[in-house]
Amino acid sequence: MDNAKTTVDVKKETAALLEKLGVARAAWSDGDMPSYSPVSGEEIAKLISITPDKATAVIDAAHEAFKEWRVVPAPRRGELVRLLGEELRAHKTDLGRLVSIEAGKITSEGLGEVQEMIDICDFAVGLSRQLYGLTIATERPGHRMMETWHPLGVVGIISAFNFPVAVWSWNAALALVCGNSVVWKPSEKTPLTALACQAILERAIARFGGAPDNLSQVLIGDRAIGEVLVDHPKVPLVSATGSTRMGKDVGPRLAKRFARAILELGGNNAGIVCPSADLDMALRAIAFGAMGTAGQRCTTLRRLFVHESVYDQLVPRLKKAYQSVSVGNPLETTALVGPLIDKAAFDGMEKAIAAARKEGGVVTGGERITEAGKESAYYVKPALVEMPEQAGPVLEETFAPILYVMKYSDFSAALKDHNAVGAGLSSSIFTLDMQESELFLSAEGSDCGIANVNIGTSGAEIGGAFGGEKETGGGRESGSDAWRAYMRRATNTINYSKALPLAQGVSFDI
Ligand code: NAD
Repeated sequence: MDNAKTTVDVKKETAALLEKLGVARAAWSDGDMPSYSPVSGEEIAKLISITPDKATAVIDAAHEAFKEWRVVPAPRRGELVRLLGEELRAHKTDLGRLVSIEAGKITSEGLGEVQEMIDICDFAVGLSRQLYGLTIATERPGHRMMETWHPLGVVGIISAFNFPVAVWSWNAALALVCGNSVVWKPSEKTPLTALACQAILERAIARFGGAPDNLSQVLIGDRAIGEVLVDHPKVPLVSATGSTRMGKDVGPRLAKRFARAILELGGNNAGIVCPSADLDMALRAIAFGAMGTAGQRCTTLRRLFVHESVYDQLVPRLKKAYQSVSVGNPLETTALVGPLIDKAAFDGMEKAIAAARKEGGVVTGGERITEAGKESAYYVKPALVEMPEQAGPVLEETFAPILYVMKYSDFSAALKDHNAVGAGLSSSIFTLDMQESELFLSAEGSDCGIANVNIGTSGAEIGGAFGGEKETGGGRESGSDAWRAYMRRATNTINYSKALPLAQGVSFDI
């Protein structure tokens, strides 16, 4: 393990960062909910969890804020998000470091997550002047028909541990310019970064001047508090990011009360390496996609189909990369792979590897790396598993760095296997053959929400709509026209004639 010097006092540094980011000590020093750093496994804070009754009152207050915010002109609402972007730029280093402490991300990925927040703020500011509706041809003389987009209400955000800050910003930046208030239930594994984001937003709100109280709030708690948000009648939209198991519970509950859902759930992402692929490029993309973030991205590459003609050129090089990749403490080393989030993640990884072996899998890597004094931290060597076929654990998402590699001879059979899993988030093809790449992107190609050519499955930009099909939940957030989910559409017909013609030629003379 790349852990040459282990001198950082994680708890002390956490306290210093929280102070710099403006989080009140009382919010995290002596509460009932412990928070841990995966870097060392130690407890770093004790937060105060909210009760269901108090959470309900917070949501009610956010509804009152919405009533004021919805009539603020959209470009002015954009000014608040512009200020949020400025505050994030000023605090990028500290917030990125806190992400590394709380989620275990390597330095460039912790900072990259904050950059993603800045990018979505920029996008949302522009959007605040572009919340357009259509003018539509009407069949009636002396009439005009158009659509207008109005704010929706309180937007509930539920987020996962692995993107502890970016997912909030994707939703909050759009929701705020669209005229909504926001209530966020962050992962119970990463609550400190949520408090930091709230403090940063509050600074932007203070500079903005005149925003309603309770425009954006955070609910610290576990799944039961998430359920309060999901069931509250004054929350017309919940954007929930997490496991497919969570979505299977949240989706029907929202449907039952006719609330909207943006579900961003698990992925079981695959890549296909074709005979014409640029193998140097593919190798780098596969290494980052599969081992980056210790395999804990929803878009992590988990399945790889390699054509038999290039298998023996690519896979031995890939195995070498797995054997040599640096694993270590992200706060003190330049290692490329940090820790798993907790013991449960490690147990899941061990279980999947054992199941893969039973299916005939041959494993490179996958061992735990321990260090004296850090017995509660879970560092692992990423695992590459050569599988005789797609079976057993290959069909499911295991949220850890395991890449299943399979050989193929027929492109259409590989494409069929590619699509034969429950999840439908991200996908890649590595080819220089135009017919293969176009087929992969076509209606009969990849069935995922994200389909890439000659880049990996992970590392999406905010400009595109982000999300996936099937068990990934069907939601879209971030760029393109994802903003429409955060607003309600009204179709307006205006009669400026002196007659009252009815549509479809209907007559009703009284
Ligand atoms: P998780 O499902 O355990 O928890 C996610 C969030 O949901 C947490 O805040 C949790 O408290 C809350 N929650 C859980 N059950 C709930 C319920 N019944 N009602 C209301 N809230 C509930 O997920 P995790 O372990 O934190 O994150 C990893 C998972 O998230 C992976 O499956 C990963 O693929 C997925 N993920 C998806 C995306 C995406 O955009 N598609 C992004 C990041 C992570």
